[in-house]
Amino acid sequence: MTQELAMDSTSLSNLHILCIPFMAPGHILPMVDMAKLLARHNVKVTIITTPLNAIQFKTSINKEIESGSPIQLLEVNFPNAGAGIPKGCESLETLPSMDLKGNFLIAVNLLQKPIEELIQKLEPFPSCIISDKHIPSLADTANKFKIPRIIFDGTNCLNLLCNHNIHASKVYETLYDSDQFVIPGLPHRIAMKKSQLPVIFKPGPNQLLNRLRQRIRDSEVEAYGIVVNSFEELEDGYVEEYQNVTGHKVWCVGPVSLSNKDDIEKAQRGSKNFIDANEYVNWLNSWPKNSVIYVCLGSLNRVTPKQLMEIGLGLEATNRPFIWVVRKAYKWGEMEKWLLEDGFEERVKGRGILIRGWAPQVLILSHKAIGAFLTHCGWNSTLEAICAGVPLITFPMFSDQFYNEKLVVQVIETGVRVGVENAVHFGDEDEFGDGFQVSRENVREAIEKVMGEGEGKNERRERAKKYADMGKKAIEQGGSSYLNMLKLIEDIMHVKPFEF
Ligand code: UDP
Repeated sequence: MTQELAMDSTSLSNLHILCIPFMAPGHILPMVDMAKLLARHNVKVTIITTPLNAIQFKTSINKEIESGSPIQLLEVNFPNAGAGIPKGCESLETLPSMDLKGNFLIAVNLLQKPIEELIQKLEPFPSCIISDKHIPSLADTANKFKIPRIIFDGTNCLNLLCNHNIHASKVYETLYDSDQFVIPGLPHRIAMKKSQLPVIFKPGPNQLLNRLRQRIRDSEVEAYGIVVNSFEELEDGYVEEYQNVTGHKVWCVGPVSLSNKDDIEKAQRGSKNFIDANEYVNWLNSWPKNSVIYVCLGSLNRVTPKQLMEIGLGLEATNRPFIWVVRKAYKWGEMEKWLLEDGFEERVKGRGILIRGWAPQVLILSHKAIGAFLTHCGWNSTLEAICAGVPLITFPMFSDQFYNEKLVVQVIETGVRVGVENAVHFGDEDEFGDGFQVSRENVREAIEKVMGEGEGKNERRERAKKYADMGKKAIEQGGSSYLNMLKLIEDIMHVKPFEF
């Protein structure tokens, strides 16, 4: 047990923290990483999820248990029938149709009842629930059992602060989509277009989804505090400002992916399969330092085929080695035909690897041959690149991704943008049609800025390395995130009922 925790082992053994992630890889993976870090402080942690999601990280949890961590994984059945979700689908990225988005959110919130039944049997009785903000029904659970609830947001303080300030100022209400505006109340000047804002600022006709989103916002405000997968040194000014304007407690405890220390842990993150991982590592071993481009547009991969083809052609035009994760791309049939029948895969053979399954992203990013990461700027991917010291080539799509692009391109200056101008919201790809926003030439140019002889390229790499070192230090003993994790544990231990 760490000596910094000012509490005796008896009080610690009474502590029991529940971690309940939302069912999508970008939410489950960081929550599991965070749960592992918590339990390594000798605090009892129970992760609750559904069977098909549990399979993805059971091996990793078993390994923690073997090494003495007081962590366990419990399962509740996914209410497929109750919400009209086909059997076998328990995770957002496996939804057969985007028309089921609302049903999926309902299903996740229907888990409230089985989770409550489980909670009643737990010993010691839970001291706290850390849950994803997308399961607002757990706010009622926490109230019912009189235990504090903490939100695990999955994004960063910049995103939280931007959303809060834009909402409060209502600045977006009088703007046209193409209008630029300066985000109010930030320590840095960040301007963006209204069309780049998250979907919460563009409510659609689906009233059910709108109501759920409002419920999510309300439950965020009611929570005891927010755990954030980020580190204070990276978010200079945003953490304090967010706390100031909202009065929320915030604990930055990341980068949590660094909880996966050895290559096996990294390879198994999100998948049981690490045979392929060895193949990728062997292939990467054959390339010089900083020479390979890694391309992955997230676990949901919703870019239109025409746009993906432009990305592919841009990669091809660079003549550089690359790994491209094409897994489950939107309209996959069209993409697969182009990759195979139109000859892309054959043309890039030897210097380009296409990953059709789950990529061991954290492992790949940590390989010294990786010289740049073309990313959709999902927060996990962005942070994983930052703490691997890899410069980013940014291709944001929706949600917080345009804010994240601003952070890496303008604030910490470790990224170069490809030039995406407008968000295409998750599930609205059909509205966007069959076109593309950035051409192969835009893609090639952005890659060359980072990988070629582009101006400031060495300085960018040095800055990337500096932030990677800061991220590593943050979660080591005595680092800012390490201390925040201890503070989180102490706060949970001492919280008074009127505080939540
Ligand atoms: N990821 C991975 N392999 C893949 C695709 C994604 O390991 O083939 C991981 C990635 O490392 C990250 C998460 O899935 O931790 C994706 O989260 P992110 O916030 O970047 O984007 P999202 O998928 O939620 O849009």
